[in-house]
Amino acid sequence: MESKKIGIVGSGLIGRSWAMLFTSVGYHVAIYDVTIDQVTSSLAEVLKQLQELEASGMLRGTDDAQTQHNRLTGTATLKECVCDAMFVQECIPENLDLKIKLFAELDKLVGENTILSSSTSCIMPSKFTEPLVHRENCIVSHPVNPPYFVPLVEVVPAPWTSASTVSRTKELMTELGQEPVVFSKELPGFGLNRIQYVILNECYHLVQDGVLSARDVDKLMSCGLGPRYTWMGPLETAHLNADGLGSYIERYGPTIMDVSSTMKGNADWSLPAANDLVQQCNDMIPIDRLEARRVWRDERLTAFAALRTQM
Ligand code: NAD
Repeated sequence: MESKKIGIVGSGLIGRSWAMLFTSVGYHVAIYDVTIDQVTSSLAEVLKQLQELEASGMLRGTDDAQTQHNRLTGTATLKECVCDAMFVQECIPENLDLKIKLFAELDKLVGENTILSSSTSCIMPSKFTEPLVHRENCIVSHPVNPPYFVPLVEVVPAPWTSASTVSRTKELMTELGQEPVVFSKELPGFGLNRIQYVILNECYHLVQDGVLSARDVDKLMSCGLGPRYTWMGPLETAHLNADGLGSYIERYGPTIMDVSSTMKGNADWSLPAANDLVQQCNDMIPIDRLEARRVWRDERLTAFAALRTQM
């Protein structure tokens, strides 16, 4: 029988979220970080979050918070974390050198049946898996924050990832209750961040060119495109906005191309070039209020996740 053990490397925001998802459906999770203190405080944080979710009726799975937490073990070494695991989810910072070093270590510690999966948001898996003995078992499973309430996972293979690694990863993500999207090939930024960066570039230009304030640019999304995209994507939205996408293209294709030809594209995402934009965002939500605003965001995402289950 296949092992029910999952190894999680890196116990920050995303590592803790994966741990909660895996334990909710019965997996035993071993978690590792660079210091044991970090592991210990992460275990305590996960228990606190599971208990809060239980109290608000939003706990996933059929077991209570303590039972789910009992499936989580902190480990003092990487070896202990990944030994005999069926699936290892890497959750260390978004830094290529760190990922190269870690995957080389993991490659030496695991057997033939362990999938080595990365949470990276943008780095193509070929960049940190090419020389590995077990490179056909390497893949990206990119979650969206906060994964407990946002179901998408981008499943991105390297050119040498085996078909069985892809299908096993997709099945596992589905078993967790997430919504995997499988890529046929890798691209920098995968899909979600490529779309997100097109949006951010246009927002940047609208603010920096003085056309709209940062607050009003955000309103275009939160009061306009956002509600429209809540239940369906931009393609279905267009499909429904005419008599199918063919008719949409006949009606609006020339306009899309005309407007797009005036777009400035890639903005200068460096400082001090983006100082105006940064200042307006700091005025909108002062830095010392970010944490309170994150709590506000997560409460709304929780309420929305509950609503989704009723519809
Ligand atoms: P984080 O900074 O919260 O956590 C990273 C953890 O990794 C820290 O606890 C750190 O001590 C630990 N770590 C560093 N080097 C390590 C090593 N060699 N071995 C073990 N542990 C190590 O970062 P995060 O936000 O959880 O992001 C982790 C990954 O997930 C990144 O690749 C990021 O791009 C990706 N991701 C993040 C988000 C997000 O919104 N935060 C969303 C999707 C994907």
